[in-house]
Amino acid sequence: MRLKTILNYGLKFKCFCIGKSEFNEKKDSIIVEIKARTNSKPVCSICGTASPGYDTLPERLFEFVPMWGLRVFFRYAMRRVSCPQCKRVVVEAVPWCDGKNHFTNHYAAFLASWAKELSWKSVAAHFHTSWQTVCSAVESVVNYGLTHRNLDSVTALGVDEIAWHKGHKYLTLVYQINPGARRLLWVGEKRTQETMSSFFADMTKLKADFSAQIRVICSDMWKPYLKIIAKHLPQAINVLDRFHIMQKFGKALDKVRSEEAKRLRQAKQPPLLSKTRWCFLKRRENLTEKQGFKLNELLKMNLRTVKAYLLREQFQKLWEYRSPGWAGKFLEQWCHAAIFSRLEPMKDLARMLTAHRPLILNYFRAKKQFNSGIVEGLNRKINLTIRKSFGFRTLKIAKVCLYHQLGELPEPDFAHKFW
Ligand SMILES: [Zn+2]
Repeated sequence: MRLKTILNYGLKFKCFCIGKSEFNEKKDSIIVEIKARTNSKPVCSICGTASPGYDTLPERLFEFVPMWGLRVFFRYAMRRVSCPQCKRVVVEAVPWCDGKNHFTNHYAAFLASWAKELSWKSVAAHFHTSWQTVCSAVESVVNYGLTHRNLDSVTALGVDEIAWHKGHKYLTLVYQINPGARRLLWVGEKRTQETMSSFFADMTKLKADFSAQIRVICSDMWKPYLKIIAKHLPQAINVLDRFHIMQKFGKALDKVRSEEAKRLRQAKQPPLLSKTRWCFLKRRENLTEKQGFKLNELLKMNLRTVKAYLLREQFQKLWEYRSPGWAGKFLEQWCHAAIFSRLEPMKDLARMLTAHRPLILNYFRAKKQFNSGIVEGLNRKINLTIRKSFGFRTLKIAKVCLYHQLGELPEPDFAHKFW
């Protein structure tokens, strides 16, 4: 069987045919000639109108999927058309490439599929190409996916933020969190009102009635988010999710602990609280035997940290309620106790919870469907992606990488996958 037969079987080009193939001079690549079918008119790459050719550009190489350890290139001279619709001279559309890239869509999808499993550096090394090519390949696959995704089924959103760079640089992430359809929808820089507004602006560009179809949105107690969400989604229930609330508890508890540890040190008391951070912060079932033993010993002592710890443990009962009414009563009682605890971080927390009471109770109104596990799970995946890519060099790369790993993006419909 000839190479031409295999390529014709897999590519199914309508207006182009596969010509002869040959080695390059160094015999490390195969060059496959592509020709336009006689009588076929070139098609405008902007509007898709077929018109008579204007001129022909010099031959170019487009890298294809490697075979038998050899790099494969298509060689073709692109034509230009004088498009009557666009009223200017435009390069023709070709089915293997979107025009500007020096690689075929097939090769981009091939590299991107490996880039999901390996670091971009390893992919480049394995397939004898550059890191930059892998990056451009993933970027083109992501761009295709972002413009071709279907947003019809999105009715539940989750908003989260992550620190991605040293010096408190944040990214805002918006997910779809419908049961069975969880994916990253959008990434934006910072966590300001403008960030949240540009999410809604971008989505509306893709689907005019996007905001109207949203029923539930889970978010953090972060004011800039809440303000913009209320403005754009007046019909949706805004749920302050459990994951983010318990995250705040972790921070408050750790503040009490470190302040108390400092005080003990200054008063030359025994260092009871040194190396106890995780004893208090981790869930009980996740403690090691040693940590569990230590925690039990600490709980017998009259410490401010223990008091804060017990307040947090008590608060966990909130999530067991079913009715918003009873949950509300419990919340009130808990906040009352916290205000009288004389622990500043816990008092701050109680004030914050009281201020956001209606949104917290929305969790029960939404019938607990959107629990902490969803946002927490996605948050963990994001952190893993960041760690795997050794921190991102630029915002653009961070976005490409996150959409690629978590966007569940559609791929072009190839007649045959050559990999
Ligand atoms: Zn045109």
